[in-house]
Parts: sequence; C-alpha cells; structure tokens
Amino acid sequence: MQRTVETSSPDETFRLGAALGRALGGGEVIGLAGDLGAGKTQLVRAVAEGLGVPDSRIVSSPTFVLLQEYHGRLPIYHFDAYRLASEAEFLDLGGHEFLAADGVCLIEWADRVEGCLPRERLTVHLEVTGEHSRRAALEGSGSHYEEVIAALMAG
Ligand code: ADP
Ligand code: MG
Repeated sequence: MQRTVETSSPDETFRLGAALGRALGGGEVIGLAGDLGAGKTQLVRAVAEGLGVPDSRIVSSPTFVLLQEYHGRLPIYHFDAYRLASEAEFLDLGGHEFLAADGVCLIEWADRVEGCLPRERLTVHLEVTGEHSRRAALEGSGSHYEEVIAALMAG
C-alpha cells in the first residue's frame, strides 16, 4: 500500500510523524529514505513525540553515534546508516536484535541496509519539493503496516 502526503512546513511534517507515532503498537520497523535535509530526523523526532518521549528535542541525527535509544511508551531505536561502511557493520551493531525487538526501529538512510531489513516494514521516502515543502511517500508492506497507514490517513 502506498500513500503520498504533501507538507508545506516543518510543523506539518511534525504532525504527520506524531500521528504515525501514536498509531504504532511496537515491533515496527520504519525505514526513512531521502536526501540530506529531506526531513528524516525531523520525522523521527515527531514519531518519538507521538510515542510519548517527554522531550523529543533529544532526538538528533546520530551522526557519530550510529544508534540512539529513546524511551517513550515503547523503546525507540534510532539508526543512521549514512556512515555505515557496510550492512555487516549494521549487523555488528546488533541490527537484527533491534529489528526483532518489541520497540520501534527507525532507520535513516534505510536504502543502505535494505538487505538487512524485514520484508514487512514501513518505508517513508521524503522528497524536497521546495524550501518549506516536502513530499512523503509512505509504503507499507504487510497487513500490519497497511493498517498503520490506513489509521494515519483516517486521521
Ligand atoms: P535529514 O535527517 O533528512 O537530513 P533533517 O530532518 O535533519 O533532514 O532536516 C530537515 C530540514 O528541512 C530541517 O531544517 C527542517 O526545518 C527543514 N524543512 C523545511 N520544510 C520542511 C518540511 N515541510 N518538512 C520537514 N522539514 C522541513
Ligand atoms: Mg538526519
């Protein structure tokens, strides 16, 4: 299932991400794709807020730390694959264990570790369409992720 959402401000993207966070039940894998500055980290911050992280400002691009963990209503594992040399490095970080855990995994630059990700997952492709506008293409594989997208679209 694929749905596209256009946002015209960072706040609008934030609202989308927060609604996504509220729709999650645990055990989800969410891959984020899109160029530098597309809004991947912004979206992770919003999902964290939607999952009840008290101060989502702690969410930043884990540029040097390849994995950050936050605690909301569910544990959140935030990966940034940008600086990973290989998929093997992702697995060395414990990638598989986190992907199989009950929390929520969010992976920036998910295309770089695609071979490690479960087939059933949510992928969000972010595209810069203007200075303040973005296009988010949500792609859900598997019935659970289709339900998540449907819930999100129902508002
Ligand atoms: P990435 O993690 O993809 O490199 P960031 O989330 O760190 O990107 O940065 C996105 C930047 O784009 C932020 O500075 C944000 O304010 C800006 N921006 C402008 N318009 C939007 C929008 N509609 N949605 C999300 N971010 C936006
Ligand atoms: Mg980022």
